[in-house]
Amino acid sequence: MSILIKGANILDGNGNPPRKADILVLKDKISAIGDFRGARPAETVIDGLGSYVAPGFIDVDTDSDHYLTLFSNPGQEDFLKQGVTTIFGGMCGYSLAPLVYGSMESVREWSESERLNVDWRTTKEFLSSLKRMDLGVNFGTLSGHLTMRQDIVKKPRALSEKETKILGTLLEQSLEGGSFGMSSSLGYAPGKDIENEEIIELLKVVKAGNGVYSTHLRDYGEDLLKSVEESVAAAVQSGVSTIISHFEPYFASAKKYEKALKLIGENIAAADIHFDIFPFDTSVVLLSDLLPKHLFSENPDEALAKLEKPGYVKQIQGFWDKAGIDPKTMIIAGAPKNNYVIGKTIPDFAAGRGLDLREGVFELMRLTRMRGSVSVKNIDESLIEKGLLHSQSLIASNSTSFDSSEKFVHERSRNTFTKYLEIAVKTLSIEDAVKKITSVPARIFNLKNRGTIKEGNVADLVLIRDNKIKDVVVSGKVCLRNGEIENSSSGQVLKHDAKKKR
Ligand SMILES: [Zn+2]
Repeated sequence: MSILIKGANILDGNGNPPRKADILVLKDKISAIGDFRGARPAETVIDGLGSYVAPGFIDVDTDSDHYLTLFSNPGQEDFLKQGVTTIFGGMCGYSLAPLVYGSMESVREWSESERLNVDWRTTKEFLSSLKRMDLGVNFGTLSGHLTMRQDIVKKPRALSEKETKILGTLLEQSLEGGSFGMSSSLGYAPGKDIENEEIIELLKVVKAGNGVYSTHLRDYGEDLLKSVEESVAAAVQSGVSTIISHFEPYFASAKKYEKALKLIGENIAAADIHFDIFPFDTSVVLLSDLLPKHLFSENPDEALAKLEKPGYVKQIQGFWDKAGIDPKTMIIAGAPKNNYVIGKTIPDFAAGRGLDLREGVFELMRLTRMRGSVSVKNIDESLIEKGLLHSQSLIASNSTSFDSSEKFVHERSRNTFTKYLEIAVKTLSIEDAVKKITSVPARIFNLKNRGTIKEGNVADLVLIRDNKIKDVVVSGKVCLRNGEIENSSSGQVLKHDAKKKR
């Protein structure tokens, strides 16, 4: 297999100005860069004139594992169409491995996991099993702190010294088995009761294994600054590269967002701290996110009972008002076992049942037993650009690629990277805009041979013309040609090398 990309302006991913040259791809590698006029013709020739060619983009925070689309829609074509060639999962405290008892309980909020044949326990086994899928993009995973912890203690209580050790060993094995690090979620039960000390203790293991840490903050609202401080402390004390997940300027904390950005900026000498963000003003939230934290309960019956009590209803409304949440803007995004309601707006759903908007949301909670999700406008548009262009930002869809039968798809699934580029190039040079989505995440995740265009690297490449994604090459195979999918099965399962030092 050989591909010759002729005469494109190369953006190497390191932020160097574009330079015009030819790229020769042999098998899955970038074989040579130079002037190949008159050379033996390659099997595939891509005319790069008038285009930029960049390393494939890296999405550092996706839900393709949580939604199990790695299995149901392995082509992951929505990523390819926006130039993404590598995605990471295992975020927000939950991963598909390791599973001490083989139970997928931890992803039940996202998907109907009972349909999947789980033939793995360890991360190593999971990654081998995944190799049987024809993935369209490269996939790497973190190890979910809560996924591992739930298999050791059922209750959200502090761990004994012995239990902490067991958890540490499980994490260590996971890193050795190919996991890129650990993710946590400190926002909800059981994570909200977990002390940062436990995280910092485990980050020693991540550090030794040369991994990365990603965290869903304890609070994205009132206590945003305290929560960011906690993540910064973890990053400083552990020395582990840390990413705050989906760090959007939510209405609930918009006033504090700029301060939080400043706080992150002030700590870059002491810690390798980053955050990921998508460029849209709506997001998809679990129905349980629509309850104030003190009303949240792991037990759906307990949570649902609260919707009947006027006192609680008042508290919920108060929480929505504060967070700028209006049911008018909601669209049903997920409803396990009730697919027929997906894609309906809450106004339509409520009207169909003769309910007011708030009762409509409550009814959806009852119908799905708190397992659904909605798209809602909860982000302050005016601050998005500040986040996107911050020196420590990484770009991530925080979503997945659904198949074409899906009745509701949030735009972040399809346009995160194209929208990011459109916004970024108004302020940044194209080379700096591209660096943020290529070599920077590759360095953080310790990807040795991806994220830059150089001889010997894996040929994950994107051609951009007139601000559109034209062609995409994954592992030396053309996947997107003139904007059309040609092949979506050359992605690789990525394995972290825990021993290699940076
Ligand atoms: Zn999260």
